[in-house]
Amino acid sequence: MFKKMKKNKFNESMLSVDEALARILRQIKILEPKVVPIIDSLGSVLAEDVFSKINVPYADNSGMDGYAVIADNLKFASQSSPINLKVIGLIKAGDIPNIKLKDQSAIRIMTGGAIPKGADAILPFEYTKEEVLDAEKNDSYVTVIKNVAEGDYIRLSGKDVKKGEKILTQGMVLSPAEIGVLASIGMNKINVFRKPIVSILSTGDELIDPGTDYSSYLTYDSNASLIASSVVNCGGVPKILGVANDNIESVNEKLRLAYGSDLLITTAGVSKGDYDIVKDVLEQKGKIDFWSVNMKPGKPLAFGSLDLGDGIFIPHLGLPGNPVSALVTFEQFGRNIIMKMLGKKISNNTISAVLDEPIYNLERKRTFVRVIVENKGGVFRAKLTGDQSSNLLTSVVRANGLAICPEEIEKKDIGDTIDVQMLY
Ligand code: AMP
Ligand code: MG
Repeated sequence: MFKKMKKNKFNESMLSVDEALARILRQIKILEPKVVPIIDSLGSVLAEDVFSKINVPYADNSGMDGYAVIADNLKFASQSSPINLKVIGLIKAGDIPNIKLKDQSAIRIMTGGAIPKGADAILPFEYTKEEVLDAEKNDSYVTVIKNVAEGDYIRLSGKDVKKGEKILTQGMVLSPAEIGVLASIGMNKINVFRKPIVSILSTGDELIDPGTDYSSYLTYDSNASLIASSVVNCGGVPKILGVANDNIESVNEKLRLAYGSDLLITTAGVSKGDYDIVKDVLEQKGKIDFWSVNMKPGKPLAFGSLDLGDGIFIPHLGLPGNPVSALVTFEQFGRNIIMKMLGKKISNNTISAVLDEPIYNLERKRTFVRVIVENKGGVFRAKLTGDQSSNLLTSVVRANGLAICPEEIEKKDIGDTIDVQMLY
């Protein structure tokens, strides 16, 4: 099913990046919720509100190592007129406080220990002189040199979380603090939107797997690792299918391994001629929506869907073969597809920077230029990383962002402001 492409003012038959993205995202759905262990939920989006079944802390407890006391007993305690209290017990964190505090006495208590009945303040060790054992009476006494007020150093039950309270809201992204809070209310599993499994297929007769012996004229497959780690970076689960040769049988064979995944990303074979192989496969086993976007690098870019069998279609993003083009197009489209599947807000992390070098855009494409952005005296300044050929992956290693020259602008001068999409 081919949809008619909307004409573009600058490059007639091609979709703009924005049109292509909108068209892609219309076809992407948020994945269904799944209960996962909380330790696997980092970066996931909550699929439900979370209410607490308990108070945190469970009971009023001590905020310091010291003594549970009656503040009124110590009103006049000072360095010059110390007051002795009889020590009648010890409470550690986790102990059930079954001793009652009596007048003129104290119970030694550790941080987190539950406040015993009768006590209304905690006296930190720092407010006392060493505890003394009266061997004759087998009693301990503590000498108090500073007073405390009622309530001092007592952490109230439910101060952190109240029983029945909604503590996390559907749609929140789970960071370490949220995950810690879930654990604090006793949860070890949580309902989040499922992470997409992303099948990654490299195509090309010239490709060999890293780790295998080098063979002249062949190229190590860098795209699979590059795209797989990009997928992890935005919260997806990569599934590397390996390298398919440039023939229908080989592509077909590898695509069978995509069963069970939510998205297929292929690299290479999308430039004219080559793409016909993937196109033929997808015409038999799927649908093609478009295969050209007005951008640089990355003009040959395909989007459609693959039929996994049993009437199950998954979206297919066909990235260009040159590693820089693959990376740049992934950042514009792949990232947003995964974000939408995860239930996250679509954003592309841009800042505004001042150019220290001009950018030419004579082809009038949305042009992504590798730059290094530095904060100089409170102003972000962007400098190109040199040769912008799309096969030079090390030029991205030197960059920390992609400056975006809009399609309608032929040249950006030194001193002009430009949007820069920051990388990671
Ligand atoms: P193609 O789109 O097949 O014409 O490939 C464009 C360029 O990208 C060629 O120089 C390919 O060798 C290179 N290329 C394609 N796939 C990969 C890959 N997985 N890893 C590294 N280079 C690749
Ligand atoms: Mg090729």
